[in-house]
Amino acid sequence: MTTLIDTTPAEAAAGPRPIEKAPLERYVAPAQPSLVGLDRAGLAEALAAVGVPEGQRRMRVRQLWNWLYVRGAQNFDAMTSVSKDLRAVLAARYTLARPEIVAEQVSVDGTRKWLLRLPGEHPGERPHEVECVYIPEADRGTLCVSSQVGCTLSCTFCHTGTQRLVRNLTAGEIVGQVMLARDRLGDWPGATPPAGGPNPRADGGRFISNVVMMGMGEPLYNFEAVRDALLVVADGDGIAISKRRITLSTSGVVPNIARCGEEIGVMLAVSLHAVDDARRNVLVPLNRKYPIAALLDACRHYPGLSNARRITFEYVMLKGVNDSIADAKALVRLLAGIPAKINLIPFNPWPGSAYECSDWDQIERFSEVVFNAGYASPVRTPRGRDILAACGQLKSATEKLSARERLALRAMAMTD
Ligand code: SAH
Ligand code: SF4
Repeated sequence: MTTLIDTTPAEAAAGPRPIEKAPLERYVAPAQPSLVGLDRAGLAEALAAVGVPEGQRRMRVRQLWNWLYVRGAQNFDAMTSVSKDLRAVLAARYTLARPEIVAEQVSVDGTRKWLLRLPGEHPGERPHEVECVYIPEADRGTLCVSSQVGCTLSCTFCHTGTQRLVRNLTAGEIVGQVMLARDRLGDWPGATPPAGGPNPRADGGRFISNVVMMGMGEPLYNFEAVRDALLVVADGDGIAISKRRITLSTSGVVPNIARCGEEIGVMLAVSLHAVDDARRNVLVPLNRKYPIAALLDACRHYPGLSNARRITFEYVMLKGVNDSIADAKALVRLLAGIPAKINLIPFNPWPGSAYECSDWDQIERFSEVVFNAGYASPVRTPRGRDILAACGQLKSATEKLSARERLALRAMAMTD
């Protein structure tokens, strides 16, 4: 064991790292709310609020739903099947706004990363910003979506965990990330994809075939909004990304794991990262509240779990901390009997991080043990390294820029 996992004398004197560090910020709704992200009941309410008679609402909901989630309309004028009068009434009261793009970066490997600004900051407060990343591969296109600004949890290897400001995203802001990515990729019927960047169309001729809740934040600490958003994203008559192709990643919020299966029904990924409580308590402090045994018990009972619907266990490879062969063997023993996949993630360092990524040959030796135990053990290839595409990193890079540089970046994002 190296000293990386050990606490310094000053840290030891300060006591254990808090499990949760930041209270949630209050959300301030914009004066003109966006319809993006609303489900059918929400759209019906929005129509009722502008005086659409009850007898017409079902039909109007169907139209709005189609314009929003099938056609990707970005303004009310595009909704040609809706009467001009109703379009004007809607436009006076609502918007179709997606989160605002502050910066967009395109990697040489086609990975795209957006820094997004959300409404609702109080005067003088830091901007409410999150990231969203698109990762094209030969057979799929995956969108990595955020659920919170920052994170109240404080995993020691995670940059998002160091950010102080935390607020939950609304369901609209979560669906809005998928909409915005489809806007930028030209991923709506009849739209033209942007030039530049190797972006093969994935399954069914669409760019975005998979969604992972692996951006900023802990999705099971924002359960209702994440649930409502994912049910809209998965709806077969709309954006239609099947629940089998949506994965929610949690650091181990045990009480909400069963709800995730029952109320959302998406695939589950669990950030395990260590095979014993002593080390997991340090890497993922939430482990002190929900230790490994309780977490794995919740996994064993995950609704819908089967060999065809396995849980993915994520394991970040930290040099000298959790990457020994003994750890690999313990990992395999720990997961015995759970229909599982194991995802080894090379640690993505960030300025000031206390860890190093395991050496490549050590990752290979580790993955061989996992493979020999019967798991396909893909090592998640680092993508978009040239644009710092790991959690929280675009945000930290732009935080160092002056207000003028930020404005220039934003202008660039709007005009290209
Ligand atoms: N809060 C959730 C989802 C967001 S993090 C969770 O913790 O699962 C998505 C994944 O990225 C998690 O497995 C997380 O542990 C991992 N991760 C965070 N920071 C990382 C880094 N610097 N390098 C590699 N993986 C990281
Ligand atoms: Fe939060 Fe996940 Fe980062 Fe931990 S790894 S601090 S839970 S975003």
